[in-house]
Amino acid sequence: MAPIFPAPWKGGPNMATKTFDAVVIGGGPGGYVAAIRLAQLGKRTALVEKESLGGVCLNWGCIPSKALIAAANLVEDIRRAAERGILTESTRVDIAKLREFKDRIVAKTVGGVGFLEKGNGVEVLKGVGTFVAPNAVEVKGQGEAVRVEAPAFIVATGARPIEIPGFAFDKKDVWGAREAVDLPEIPKRLVCIGGGVIGMELGTVYAKLGSKVTFVEALPQILTGVDPQAVQLVQKGIRQRGGTVHLNAKARGFERKGDELIVTVEVDGKAQALDCDKILVAVGFRPNFEGIGLEKLGVKIGPKGFPEVNEQLRTSVPSIFAIGDLAGPPFLAHKAFKEGEIAAEAIAGMKSARDWVALPSGIFTDPEIGIVGLSEEEARAQGYDPIVGKFAFGALGRAVAIDHPEGFVKVVGDRASKLLLGATMCGAEAADLVAEAALALEMGAYLEDVALTIHAHPTMPEAFMEACKAALGEAIHALNRPERPRRAEAGSAARA
Ligand code: NAD
Repeated sequence: MAPIFPAPWKGGPNMATKTFDAVVIGGGPGGYVAAIRLAQLGKRTALVEKESLGGVCLNWGCIPSKALIAAANLVEDIRRAAERGILTESTRVDIAKLREFKDRIVAKTVGGVGFLEKGNGVEVLKGVGTFVAPNAVEVKGQGEAVRVEAPAFIVATGARPIEIPGFAFDKKDVWGAREAVDLPEIPKRLVCIGGGVIGMELGTVYAKLGSKVTFVEALPQILTGVDPQAVQLVQKGIRQRGGTVHLNAKARGFERKGDELIVTVEVDGKAQALDCDKILVAVGFRPNFEGIGLEKLGVKIGPKGFPEVNEQLRTSVPSIFAIGDLAGPPFLAHKAFKEGEIAAEAIAGMKSARDWVALPSGIFTDPEIGIVGLSEEEARAQGYDPIVGKFAFGALGRAVAIDHPEGFVKVVGDRASKLLLGATMCGAEAADLVAEAALALEMGAYLEDVALTIHAHPTMPEAFMEACKAALGEAIHALNRPERPRRAEAGSAARA
């Protein structure tokens, strides 16, 4: 068989060559963590990145979006301050200053990653890395290309927003998440296509900054897979901010009419027109494979389009590991962090593997949502007889005192053993609160373990303790009534 990479390889024999113990391609959450961990483990490591370090998460995802969410919350808090006797003259958003604030935060966090790589002795190579052999990549930056050789590579090239037919991102009228986070303007009317995490988080930011937001979701529920009671609270928040949600609605295309954009949406087979000024499309992510050369090396790709990896993230080509978004969903930065550590440790000969119990997620809508472990349905599907305990924030002193009495903590346990199986939290600080449930799950805690742990009063985490007590029929600050089993959710053309 002809060699896949005939020598001399295309860079030519005189191209500068650098040799490392391990090379990481992609400097997002998966890659930058992998590089740090490799260096900690004594490996001479290079990190190849074509843009700035930090990937989607730091540059236009998790961190800047949370900066905007915090700012938008502040705007809303100021507007609502009069209810608590705090009177302000008026609130105005200086969008240029808000953008500068967001950019400062990005620069600070990206700079922090550079500092950590340097401090750990990782060599950062600027450019696009393309495999030319299973143990070599060519890195093309602005200057001369360099051949980089190593016995092990971690590919962490991430994923990018999907574009749908008729809605190409044009940076003007049709925004993806990247453009929306850049805050070009606050449109009067925004149509948000996709009621997933990004659509709901960013749509809520714009709603709080003053846009009238219409959400268009193809499925019968926004935030698919999230507890319907939490979804109801998010939809209530949208309604209160003047927004609308169209379910079972597929965006088909749009046309320009003067300054207006008319989006055509198909709801239950019937076309509807939605007028707006800007469109945000957030319909999912796809992996960044292009130009890396994985296919040429024979890396096996699974049926869903992601490289097949074993429990140590090793692909079918033994010298190559794939981690983070590239290795498949869920597309979460902290999953990528963990996979970066695992792959690095595997390269260092350790037994680390994808054997976690708890993979929490936080959704920064209003109210926030935190999820970890199994829902009631998932527990049932896995053969458990689930027991559910719920505690409402309306009965939680701290939540009431901070004027965020809306929300709840719901826990799921195994009726027979009382093993904790999962938790859903919805309300103020839910994305932070879920960390305690993640620790409990990872440690194999029983409902009693949490119920017996004294929680400081008055604090939000008391709700998790009370929910565990409620599952045991022992809640103190709520009446102990068994949670009724959930009915199947209505799924037709319901609107928020
Ligand atoms: P998503 O998969 O979460 O949601 C996309 C939604 O768009 C789906 O509900 C889908 O049904 C809908 N959709 C698809 N085509 C449509 C059409 N033509 N018309 C109307 N609706 C349509 O994707 P996302 O929100 O773009 O996020 C991308 C990924 O990033 C997700 O995996 C998400 O979990 C992850 N992410 C997570 C967080 C977080 O955990 N806080 C934050 C940001 C992103």
